[in-house]
Amino acid sequence: MEDTFHFKKISSQAISADWLMHKKVHLDVLRLDNIHSIISGNKWFKLKYYLQDAKKQGFASIATFGGAYSNHIIATACACEMEGLKSIGIIRGERPVILSDTLLNARQYNMKLEFVSRALYKHPEVIRKEFKDAYFINEGGYGIMGAEGAKEILSFTPEILKYTHIICAVGTGTMMAGIIKAAKANQTILGISVMKENYSLTDKVKDLLDAEDSKKSFQIIHDYHFGGYAKHPAELIAYMNNIWQHHYLPTDIVYTAKTFYGVQQLVLDNFIPANSSILMIHSGGLQGNNSLPDKTLSF
Ligand SMILES: *Cc1c(COP(=O)(O)O)cnc(C)c1O
Repeated sequence: MEDTFHFKKISSQAISADWLMHKKVHLDVLRLDNIHSIISGNKWFKLKYYLQDAKKQGFASIATFGGAYSNHIIATACACEMEGLKSIGIIRGERPVILSDTLLNARQYNMKLEFVSRALYKHPEVIRKEFKDAYFINEGGYGIMGAEGAKEILSFTPEILKYTHIICAVGTGTMMAGIIKAAKANQTILGISVMKENYSLTDKVKDLLDAEDSKKSFQIIHDYHFGGYAKHPAELIAYMNNIWQHHYLPTDIVYTAKTFYGVQQLVLDNFIPANSSILMIHSGGLQGNNSLPDKTLSF
């Protein structure tokens, strides 16, 4: 499958800022948002082994779940199109009069959209029975194969050994599990949860790890969700414009802006000690910003 995608080898972006200098901390951002124009970020990594497995088992179509702005939905649609697989997107909520950019794009990649009520969406096992011919992937690509794919994210950075801390956003926890699997025993992995008080995430991550990997140093931080999943108060928007102005680093409202904010606070609070070297994973997702009114963001 690698051949189909021709991913650019990307480099990480070193961030220079007063708050880092004062605290004697180094920060690089791994720009997964640059790997591919549509399947940006972590999603292709998470999909890779599911798609291989589906093909091996002889499935012609893939079905998966997501909301109207889901990065996972658009990535699945695009990856399936490139791989010659049909795709079905089970979308949460009734069909809106005007489809979101995400869904319009997914449809351009020939994804069949099936809208289900929020009540039914909570019962994926019921929905699955209606699509017997499809290979199902969990919402967000959650699962062991997703984590196996995410493990390969760190191979994109040649200098992985120099980092004391690796920090990423946490939605389902699949990417974080992959990062933990790939990390060395002396590295600390921190996940910034983008949901409010979702304390079950630690177990979700652990469920994807074997006993050896579970012993590594990792922690999910619950303080930087800005009100909850996809919530983006004016304060967050201003922060995103500020990051852009200072670093030419584009971030998204759901995951990466909150992660960058978390990194900054953890450094300022001395949670991350002096002389640390951090790698923040920019997991992509910029297409989600299309849900904002025009000119909200300066990039
Ligand atoms: C989906 C997504 C995540 C969350 O990844 P999980 O593996 O579900 O934790 C983080 N960042 C971006 C940009 C995403 O699209």
